Amino acid sequence: MSEHPILQSFIAGQWLGQQAKQPLYSAINGEMIYQTHADVIDFGQSIDFAKTKGRRSMLAMDFQARASCLRDLGKYILEHKESLYEVSALTGATRADSWVDIEGGAGTLFAYASMGRRELPSGNLIHEGDAIPLGREGHFYGSHVLVPRHGVAVHINAFNFPIWGMLEKFAANFIAGMPCIIKPATSTSFLTEACVRLLQQSGFLPEGSLQLVIGRTGDLLGRLDGQDIVTFTGSAATAAKLRVTPNLINNSVPFNAEADSLNCAILAPDVTVDSPEFDLFVKEVAREMTAKAGQKCTAIRRVMVPENHIEAVSERLTARLAKVSVGDPRINEVRMGALASHDQQKDVLAQLGALLETSSVLCGGTDSFELVGTGTDKGAFCQPTLLLSNNPDAEGGAHDIEAFGPISTLMAYKDLDHAVSLAARGKGSLVSTLVTKDPEVAAKVVPELAVWNGRVHILNEQAAKESTGHGSPLPMLKHGGPGRAGGGEELGGIRGVKHYMQRAAIQGSPTMLGAVTKEFVRGGQVIETEVHPFRRYFETLQIGESLLTHRRTVTEADIVNFGCLSGDHFYMHFDDIAARETQFEQRIAHGYFVLSAAAGLFVSPGEGPVLANYGLDNLRFITPVPIGDTIRARLTCKRKIDQGKVSPKGEPQGVVVWDVQVTNQDDELVASYDILTLVKKQSN
Ligand code: NDP
Repeated sequence: MSEHPILQSFIAGQWLGQQAKQPLYSAINGEMIYQTHADVIDFGQSIDFAKTKGRRSMLAMDFQARASCLRDLGKYILEHKESLYEVSALTGATRADSWVDIEGGAGTLFAYASMGRRELPSGNLIHEGDAIPLGREGHFYGSHVLVPRHGVAVHINAFNFPIWGMLEKFAANFIAGMPCIIKPATSTSFLTEACVRLLQQSGFLPEGSLQLVIGRTGDLLGRLDGQDIVTFTGSAATAAKLRVTPNLINNSVPFNAEADSLNCAILAPDVTVDSPEFDLFVKEVAREMTAKAGQKCTAIRRVMVPENHIEAVSERLTARLAKVSVGDPRINEVRMGALASHDQQKDVLAQLGALLETSSVLCGGTDSFELVGTGTDKGAFCQPTLLLSNNPDAEGGAHDIEAFGPISTLMAYKDLDHAVSLAARGKGSLVSTLVTKDPEVAAKVVPELAVWNGRVHILNEQAAKESTGHGSPLPMLKHGGPGRAGGGEELGGIRGVKHYMQRAAIQGSPTMLGAVTKEFVRGGQVIETEVHPFRRYFETLQIGESLLTHRRTVTEADIVNFGCLSGDHFYMHFDDIAARETQFEQRIAHGYFVLSAAAGLFVSPGEGPVLANYGLDNLRFITPVPIGDTIRARLTCKRKIDQGKVSPKGEPQGVVVWDVQVTNQDDELVASYDILTLVKKQSN
């Protein structure tokens, strides 16, 4: 291997790049470590490969199989993580910083794997039900479906999280069934390349599902069409430029941006200096300033404190920051590493200079500072710097300038309304933290903050015991904020997957909707045979297979027995006088009795392939059942999901959801619900 390896793009299934172009340097000591390649990428070939081979190999799998694949990829990364930690240090990251990037990235794959397996069906179509009747007699219904887009997702990423930044986007587009082309920021692309090599070596990655671009995107954006998607993370200036690429506008290519963000933390006036929340506030701000040397899109840039606490916060924060040792992140005692590149260092120092026009230095600043480790004098370091805003109400300053490093500005506010108005001056942020002891303060302030933020983190003593922190986007929660923060949206559980799918409304008869969605739609054709549906194995059970039970007349004895058995002697069932005064004008059966009686009507009691009933969804009691009414149930196989799971005894099984309608003698719907069961498979 050459002394300064040439990074390679992974295009159309091949590693490409033999000729050196741009040198890349270690953030720790400025030594040259890698080079980008000069070889030109054929983006036409790359897109074509994604849309043919990539699409084909991904859609040969379904949501469930792709979710399992993500889990395997995550495991592979963890098994080989030490090689990534080694490379990650060269970006200036400490072990803790790299943990967020590497293990946080793998964790996002695991989270999407498990959400996908839990929440998505078999197949490649999501039914966003329920179907809505559009006619009076149940012959015409409407609903929504989501299908994988036919294009490619182009992800243009920032330098600060070379692995997590790639995987948080990849997880969602992969589960959706859409191939992607990833373009990491050049300065730290060597770490993304190392991770893509691992993913490819794992053997789990379907052909064409992921391609990597080292260097610039050339004519890529100009070649996209309306089935494609662009996601961008980086500076607002680049977002603004790329967003208006004529081809993207002409073809309505969705462009999701996550850009600069002047996030804030507010210490509420109810928090006194001696309370645990005061320390929590200081700790959180210090942590957010120094983690990843402040190069987090979510880092706290504006620190809002009641006027009477400015001095105390300043003292405690300064004391905490003074203890942060800065230097070579590979050395154990070092708490904060370097900025990711010398260019970044130059930018941060320039922004610090601009901030100093409206603020004064409380600690840190532009003076020289002590560094741990040899050669670090040539590294891209910056010391933790706390500023005090001279006039938080003035235009510009910390409300407009993002120094993407360990730099935050303290601002004094008069009252909560003032704090909220200062927070809004950020013009849209990814996240804000409110530290308060008082639920009423949270109830008043959070809705105001929510207008301007993608996420609001409320911190008090109880939450702190488990808080994942101000700065951590979580796979199950939305990431992305309005306005300056780019206006985009990522993650947020399965919502994030749906960004890579096309939603269409569908209309038709219930039978047609059932055929398309692979879900039984009420009013659709049912399949009735001599065999009880509970006696079918998972494979042989068909959607729409149905049983209409015999009838049962509900008696007073039923109500009394059920009340005594359950201990539920509610007046509606037991007090004739009180019941007559209600809207029902008579005693009625317990809703839970109706459920139990329905189960008694539809179960096939003998041993069979139905292994367990693990719950009910969408339960509604619709028409009351008075003494003397006669009920019956219709049980219909609504949905089947093959998660590829086995029971604790090793029996392969699948999930079957049953539609249940309980009706009375006048065919009125009495109760309606879905039953969730596990059903054995015939074959292993
Ligand atoms: P940039 O906006 O310069 O770059 C972001 C990504 O866009 C990189 O991959 C970059 O590639 C790419 N890019 C830049 N120009 C083009 C172009 N014309 N066509 C295609 N791709 C392009 O941001 P940086 O990563 O350099 O960070 C700069 C600032 O952005 C930070 O200082 C910070 O203020 C903000 N930022 C915000 C983040 C957020 O999530 N909110 C995250 C990271 C940064 P290349 O590296 O090859 O130039």
